[in-house]
Amino acid sequence: MHDPLLNVAGDIIETAALKQVAPGVHWLRMPLPFQLDHINLWVLEDGDGCTLVDTGINREEVRAAWDALFAGPLSSRPVKRVIVTHFHPDHMGLAGWLTEKFNVDMWTTGAEWATASNLYVDGGTEHVARARDFYHAAGFGADLMAEVDKRQNPYPKRISPVPERFHKIEDGEIIEIDGKDWRVIVGTGHSPEHACLYRGEDHILISGDQILPKITPNVSVWPQFPEKNPLDLFLASLDKFRGLDPETLVLPSHNWPFHGLHERLDQLAHHHDERLDDVVRACAEPLNATQVLKHLFRRELDSHQLFFAIGESLAHLHYLIGQGRMVKETGPDGVDLFRAAS
Ligand SMILES: [Zn+2]
Repeated sequence: MHDPLLNVAGDIIETAALKQVAPGVHWLRMPLPFQLDHINLWVLEDGDGCTLVDTGINREEVRAAWDALFAGPLSSRPVKRVIVTHFHPDHMGLAGWLTEKFNVDMWTTGAEWATASNLYVDGGTEHVARARDFYHAAGFGADLMAEVDKRQNPYPKRISPVPERFHKIEDGEIIEIDGKDWRVIVGTGHSPEHACLYRGEDHILISGDQILPKITPNVSVWPQFPEKNPLDLFLASLDKFRGLDPETLVLPSHNWPFHGLHERLDQLAHHHDERLDDVVRACAEPLNATQVLKHLFRRELDSHQLFFAIGESLAHLHYLIGQGRMVKETGPDGVDLFRAAS
């Protein structure tokens, strides 16, 4: 038995240095310009080349780090395909750039590709108007609404053009990489159809953002799907991983590779249970989602974190409505108020 959440490979690896974490599987870390300052990517040996899993965000320093790898350690291993776990820019950000450079396909699920493609072209006033309606209903005052106007749609800036052609992968599909079978396990809640990859032969799970060792994966309601109940989807998804081997080595997109998958699944479910109880207690008096946010996140949030936090608040509220533990009423000012069901 391994220690739960053991960091198997050392906390920190250098940017753009490859570190083998399992046979034929190399860990690569790229910088991110947020408080969460890195993403883990995976380079899988694949015959005389390699398969990449995720790509990093579209920024000069990340492209430069890739170029250094292609001129150095990967010079004799051309990229054969780029698998993308989900549409978020730290994952898909350079898929277009990499697939064009090597004239190969991006592999991802249909919903991740469709979401990326839509968001990539969704600019301008309509996007902001939709966001303003959504955040008004969530209780944003003038100060926070200024952040909505400033933010616009940040997605197109953070991603190179989304490939128009892609190789569509499905839940349960087996992808053969270097003669070994990797099974696609699709998770939901963090993103629409998040692809995880599991090599059953030696229990290696590339978990993307679906299962993380230190932070809880963001589960948010976004303006494009204002009525959604993503927390219900996320918690149901966690159960899909309970059948995997207890010795599984989990390779997540943030922080470090770890053992203790089942302990971590329990912790994530427990975390949300506690949060849900907090929200019910807070809503003894009717509150809007921005007021609920202040109960859930007691620390200062920067403007990037603000949008994740309000999305998380709504995700908990919508889940509770689904369970019959919360009631929503829209006031004459268009702001939604949430009250614990009596
Ligand atoms: Zn993500």
